[in-house]
Amino acid sequence: MTDPVLLISGASFKEDERARLAEAYPATFVDGPDAMSGVPEGQRRAIRAVAYKGHKPFGGAEMDLFPNLGVIANYGVGYDAIDVAAASARGIKVTNTPDVLSDDVADLAVAMLLAQARTMRLGEAHVRSGDWAKKGELPLNRKVSGSTVGIVGLGRIGREIADRLAAFKMEIHYHSRSEKETPGWTYHADPARLAGAVDFLVVALVGGSATEGYVSKEVIDAMGPRGVLVNISRGTTVDEGALLDALEEGRIGGAGLDVFLNEPNLDPRFLKLENVVLQPHQGSGSVETRRDMALLQLANVRAFLEGAALPTAVN
Ligand code: NAP
Repeated sequence: MTDPVLLISGASFKEDERARLAEAYPATFVDGPDAMSGVPEGQRRAIRAVAYKGHKPFGGAEMDLFPNLGVIANYGVGYDAIDVAAASARGIKVTNTPDVLSDDVADLAVAMLLAQARTMRLGEAHVRSGDWAKKGELPLNRKVSGSTVGIVGLGRIGREIADRLAAFKMEIHYHSRSEKETPGWTYHADPARLAGAVDFLVVALVGGSATEGYVSKEVIDAMGPRGVLVNISRGTTVDEGALLDALEEGRIGGAGLDVFLNEPNLDPRFLKLENVVLQPHQGSGSVETRRDMALLQLANVRAFLEGAALPTAVN
């Protein structure tokens, strides 16, 4: 039997994704970083590429198990689970899957914003329970079109969200580390100032240690009792304790959240709240986009193994 050159790592890979990778190159499979040391030593020596999917930390200790590893191809644009500095120090390239998922993630951010403001969860429950016929109309909700939104992190996804919300006639404000070229959107150097200036605050930052708690208690408090927070970035970018306190005490208006600390085992306090829309980290979760992500991951593996330029390298 040929030794595997590719390690497919991730319990969340779908059957067809795994099969496509394994058809392309001799491969072996593990559930995640914890299981990598269980790959027989002879096979570990042969591994030159890892196709990675998941949010468990992939650090230097795991990389050292594979002395001939040259590339870690991540499935996803966010590669905060991979210690890129450790990879670079070992001469290992890391790749990700940018752009192909931006539309989907932006769509979900807009959907959560609308669902929260227009109380769509309540509306659905009202119809299904029969209360509509018994009790009549719901309390009125809140207009989105023409209101003001602040984007925290005007990167690829942040920009797609802003473009969509501009079509809702919303006034666009944003915070990034530096001012960008925009069609006249308002820049705020300070995220708390941004939060204080808008009705809706949408977080589209990268994850990782550099942005941990970036949306701090100060930023959350600045939103005020009508402020709505939407987070499609990572659970780590928001001070989750401060967010839960503010939601429970009604100090902010509500939230739409696709990402959490410790997901999928999120803080049970979230489940008791009525003023939130909760999603299971499915920003990029359409059939079409996941296929494009899988193909881009494979393209990176292929380029590395065939000595070509990597399509989407991050280091
Ligand atoms: P991107 O184009 O690299 O944009 C990232 C944004 O984060 C930029 O605005 C950037 O700020 C900001 N940023 C980076 N490092 C920072 C730092 N140290 N301090 C402050 N701001 C920093 O990435 P993207 O493609 O838009 O993706 C953004 C993130 O979305 C991903 O990293 C991932 O975590 C998340 N995501 C979530 C889902 C989901 O399913 N919910 C799916 C895909 C991605 P500047 O503008 O100042 O450069």
